[in-house]
Amino acid sequence: MKSIISNDRKCIVCDSTVNLHKHHVFEGTANRSKSEKDGCWVYLCSRHHNGSNAGVHYNKVFEMKLKQDTQRAWEKIYGTREDFRKRYGRSYL
Ligand SMILES: [Zn+2]
Ligand SMILES: [Zn+2]
Repeated sequence: MKSIISNDRKCIVCDSTVNLHKHHVFEGTANRSKSEKDGCWVYLCSRHHNGSNAGVHYNKVFEMKLKQDTQRAWEKIYGTREDFRKRYGRSYL
């Protein structure tokens, strides 16, 4: 499934087009595959993924914002907040 956040092949933070990683927004074994199916993933450069403290895997503020933005996009396409909570185990909003 295409990303529901951005289909541009560039980092969503800095627009870099090199060293792109595909980051699944909702992680854990079950949620990762649901994220793939639902398009809850984004491109990030290595610096904004896991290659520095600015990366989503180390920056809690960025991680939460991305989860919230993605949940909002998910609710526009797939269903209610309760539907989201059932599918991913919790709400970030
Ligand atoms: Zn970047
Ligand atoms: Zn990741």
